[in-house]
Amino acid sequence: MKRALLLVLVVLVAFTTLLFARALALPSRQLQVTPAPRIALDEDALAKRLGAALRFETVSSADPSALPRGEFEKFQRWLAEAYPRLHAGLSLERVSDLSLLYTWQGSDPALPPLLLLAHQDVVPVDAPERWAEPPFAGLISDGFVWGRGAIDDKASLLSICEAVELLLGRGFRPTRTVLLAFGHDEEVGGAHGATQIAAVLASRAVHPWFVLDEGGVILAPGLVPGIQGPVAMVGVAEKGYVTLDVVAKAEGGHSSRPPRHTAAGILAKAVLALEDHPMPASIGGVTGSTIAYLAPEMPLPGRMLLANLWLFAAPLEAVLSRQPSTNAFLRTTTAVTQLTGSPKDNVLPSQAVAGVNFRILPGDTVDVVLTRARAVVNDPRVEVRPRSPGPEPSPVSPMDSRSFALLARTIRESFPDTIVVPSLVIGATDSRHYGEVTQELYRFLPIHMDSSDLTRPHGIDERLSTQNYADAVRYQVQLLENAAGSAP
Ligand SMILES: [Zn+2]
Repeated sequence: MKRALLLVLVVLVAFTTLLFARALALPSRQLQVTPAPRIALDEDALAKRLGAALRFETVSSADPSALPRGEFEKFQRWLAEAYPRLHAGLSLERVSDLSLLYTWQGSDPALPPLLLLAHQDVVPVDAPERWAEPPFAGLISDGFVWGRGAIDDKASLLSICEAVELLLGRGFRPTRTVLLAFGHDEEVGGAHGATQIAAVLASRAVHPWFVLDEGGVILAPGLVPGIQGPVAMVGVAEKGYVTLDVVAKAEGGHSSRPPRHTAAGILAKAVLALEDHPMPASIGGVTGSTIAYLAPEMPLPGRMLLANLWLFAAPLEAVLSRQPSTNAFLRTTTAVTQLTGSPKDNVLPSQAVAGVNFRILPGDTVDVVLTRARAVVNDPRVEVRPRSPGPEPSPVSPMDSRSFALLARTIRESFPDTIVVPSLVIGATDSRHYGEVTQELYRFLPIHMDSSDLTRPHGIDERLSTQNYADAVRYQVQLLENAAGSAP
């Protein structure tokens, strides 16, 4: 008996030692760099220009006749005035009329160009009265620039322009050609902007070294459980998108003689089945890479857990699936967003329809989602069909590339003590349209966000601190010097 107990104890100790040994053996994947010297900037002037840019109501629309062309034209005239060196030193082409493609010619034409993306358009504001400051006034108060586009994506567009203007003023000349592509319809799919710019580049056989777009941001300390410092999420892939129409049909008629289940009731059952049977979760793929980069930076307990996923994958998956914010990184998500039935309370619906929006994880496809949804609903009275052919998930960009390493280095030089990790972008960006011209597509906006900031883009009180914005400009300067300077 004593021997058996002893044996169990020995096995337990050996097992625990093994778990800890694996955790301790994890090497950090963070590059060791020297922080970049802090550039002196007129931060007030920077904030004022960002504020000025937010006053143009460049709201895109899927309906071309509803596009406020005048606002885009005024914004572009303002850009030319605000950044005179940029407009003198770079050539500008207009694509689809309102999208802008700038070329900053490098001295070595043999080097593939760098392509920086941003978009001029913003999403509409539906409840301006709920904002602390008006959404299109570009006001600066409490140390913040307020307005629609302050983060998404005029901060990105303007910080790139500021960096180019500053470098031109210093006499900097890029070795590598730098392209700036500013679409005008990202928020409605990019069919006229990014898609057409990518086609222009493809027709000229221009294959950028890498593309950098919005996407991941720098998460404030505490937002990533177990990590002390800020975490920069560099998007290496983005989810796809499809909306399925789930259509239940039944006899119509007067509601005074109803059948046991109306079309609405049949539909309700199908909708519930879809919610109750989500697409399978996985902590592999891009999210597995995020975890692999985070694990070595965690204190020992967390590190032990993440270093031994062969043992802890299932419980970790269960915990992460519970929170919508982490669940979205593990699986293709299912969101029932629209329901319609009878137009009148005393009329039986002959048809009831639900719109179900899926955000597709790389690895799944529109077809996989459709097939599974049909199998889950499994009811001959219910038809499941795609509303429109949504974009498939993007390919995964390499994480062992020179370009990814350059980005990681630039981020750590500009924002010391920030952990850089590859990540999945759960929304859509313009970058997906450039897959034909390069495989190295990254998505990162040099903006710090805390938990209260995450709902501001597309939401209420979009704002950016003047400090945060100035640091974003410093990062863009560092990026251009690292990627296009004399020894890239
Ligand atoms: Zn955006």
